[in-house]
Amino acid sequence: MNGLQLDRVTVRFGEVTAVDEVSLAVPSGRVLAVLGPSGCGKSTLLRAIAGLEPVTAGTISYDGTSLAGVPTHRRGFALMFQDGQLFDHLSVAENVGYALRIRGRRDPARITELLELVDLPGYDARRPATLSGGERQRVALARALAVEPRLLLLDEPLSALDATLRERVAQDLRGILTRTSSTALLVTHDHDEAFAVADDLAVMRAGRVVQTGPISEVWAAPVDAETALLLGYARVLPGQVIGLEGTVAMRRSALRVDPAGTLPARVVSVRSTPEQWRLQVTAEDGTELDAVADLDRPVAVGESVRLLLDRSRVAPVGNGAVGGSP
Ligand code: ADP
Ligand code: MG
Repeated sequence: MNGLQLDRVTVRFGEVTAVDEVSLAVPSGRVLAVLGPSGCGKSTLLRAIAGLEPVTAGTISYDGTSLAGVPTHRRGFALMFQDGQLFDHLSVAENVGYALRIRGRRDPARITELLELVDLPGYDARRPATLSGGERQRVALARALAVEPRLLLLDEPLSALDATLRERVAQDLRGILTRTSSTALLVTHDHDEAFAVADDLAVMRAGRVVQTGPISEVWAAPVDAETALLLGYARVLPGQVIGLEGTVAMRRSALRVDPAGTLPARVVSVRSTPEQWRLQVTAEDGTELDAVADLDRPVAVGESVRLLLDRSRVAPVGNGAVGGSP
């Protein structure tokens, strides 16, 4: 198979098993996001792939060839970190050209091309200290892409950016990865970052990969409640509360106040957003639920409402088996 392949890779630090028998693949030209909470082993996994962390067991290979014993600088991979790690004493052009220069290549035309690729034309002489967070990350990306790595490894590349900027830079990143047909593995704790940038998803918890697949497939059927919450679902509950079977994960907007709704509930709290009311309600059996309502009429705490379920905003959890199957 072309691209990156991990077969039961384990990384231990003494008693701590940071990466536990992880198997996954990044076919060439695709972008995989490893999504998991802080401390689950994402950075260790990335460092092992880069050759910066010794592997305790298992195999990492690229294009079918094992990388065991291959030093970092011979793997043909590039790394990019959360804070970009630009060299502050160098100009933008010198930062972008850094990897070229240490390989004995001086290529001003390539630097110009890279700065255009990341939409920073004319930034050559600027110092990193004068750039915004988003601009810094785009310079770091240009630097990582300079030597045309066969695999780009990204460690929470957008997490240091504020929320509004993060969304835009995520789109930029996605566009650049697509245009350069890059093969990339991104690790993050942020589902929005994963969804915005990647094609495929591997959900990681406590060192293990618990679910993999195209993003839409993982999103449509999270393997368990913890995964559903990590993916950004607001609540996981028994389906019978809302008239479905099994365990279900619900988006915040899955229930809407509507006179035609079939589910009676009582409003516990109300919060307004520019688009809608966001409510907490209790169903007749006392289960707490989230719901939304149009802003065209006020909603009061204590009010009885009827809720309409949008099935497209609900996903079965663990293949719909209540309590999970063995
Ligand atoms: P993440 O990137 O998902 O937040 P890390 O890969 O940084 O997680 O860490 C995973 C686990 O491995 C944590 O328990 C962390 O404390 C441990 N760990 C990471 N690096 C080392 C190290 N060099 N020595 C000992 N333990 C480590
Ligand atoms: Mg990390």
